[in-house]
Amino acid sequence: MDLAAIIHETWAELAARRGAGQVADYIPALARVDPTKFGIALATPDGQTHCAGDAAEPFSIQSISKVFVLALALDRHGPKLFERVGREPSGDPFNSIVQLERDHGIPRNPFINAGAIVTTDHLIDDRPVDEAIAELLALLRTIARDDTIMIDGEVAMSESTAGDRNRSLAYFMASFDVLNNAVPDILNGYFRQCALALSCRNLAEAGLFLACDGTDPVTGQTVVSSERCRRINALMLTCGHYDNSGQFAYEVGFCGKSGVGGGILAVVPNRASIAVWSPGLGDAGTSLLGSAALRLIAEKTGWSIFG
Ligand code: GLU
Repeated sequence: MDLAAIIHETWAELAARRGAGQVADYIPALARVDPTKFGIALATPDGQTHCAGDAAEPFSIQSISKVFVLALALDRHGPKLFERVGREPSGDPFNSIVQLERDHGIPRNPFINAGAIVTTDHLIDDRPVDEAIAELLALLRTIARDDTIMIDGEVAMSESTAGDRNRSLAYFMASFDVLNNAVPDILNGYFRQCALALSCRNLAEAGLFLACDGTDPVTGQTVVSSERCRRINALMLTCGHYDNSGQFAYEVGFCGKSGVGGGILAVVPNRASIAVWSPGLGDAGTSLLGSAALRLIAEKTGWSIFG
C-alpha cells in the first residue's frame, strides 16, 4: 500500500473545504489561527512518517495532551487512578458539570475536562507542578524526537484567564474530596498541558507507541505496558471525541483523541499513528475536516479496527 500517496490524495480531495467549521474562540490565541490550515501526518512502526499540507507547523494540541498525561499518571498510580475517574463515555459535552453531582464528584472518564483534571492531579502527585509538567514535556520531546517542542506561554495564560468553567469543575470535585492537590496548582498544570504546541508530524510520532503495544519502535522506549496501551486505546475509542465518540467510531473506526485546537490523534493498532489538523470545529468541538480526512484514510486503507 502506498501510504504517502494515500495521505496526499486525502489532503488534495479535501483541500477545497479548508476553512469549514468554527475556529475555537474562547481565547484570542486560538481565535486568530488561520482557519485554512490543514495538515496530515502518518507514522508507521517501521519508522517512516508521511506528511501532507501544514504538517510541520506547531499548533495547540489542547485536549490531545490528556492521552499523554493519562499514560504518565497510570505509570505513577496504576489502576488506583480509576478509583477517582471512570471509564465510561459521558454522552455530555467536554466541559459539562451535570453528571458530577450525581456521581459524587467522580468524572465519567479521563478525557472529559473534569476527568483530565483528576488525571493531572495524579500526574502532579506529591511533587511541585513544574516537575510534573517537565516530565510531560520531556516524554513528548523524546518520543517525538524533537527538542524544540514547547508550551505556548500565551495560550497557557489565556487558558487560565478563560478558565472559570474548569475552575468550577475542579472546585466542585474538591468539595467531594476527589482531588489531592490544591485546585490552583492542578489547574496550573492542566492549563499548561493544554497549551502544548506540536506539529502533526510531532504528534503522529509521539503517538506511535500506542500503535505498537506501548513501545516506541524508533527509540525503543517502553512508554506503557502492552496491557495499558490496549486500555488507553479503548478509552480513546469510547471517550476520545466527547459526545461525538460514537459517531467517530461509526464513521472512522480508529481510536482517536480530539482537541479544540483542531487536532486529532488517531491510532490504528499495529498499523499507524495519524495526526490531522484543521482548526474549524463541528458542534461537538472536534475538527470537521480532520474527521473527514481520517474517514477517507480509513476507507482508502481499509484499516477500520472493526474490519
Ligand atoms: N483547553 C480546553 C478546555 O479545557 C480543552 C478542551 C478540548 O481541547 O477539547 O476547555
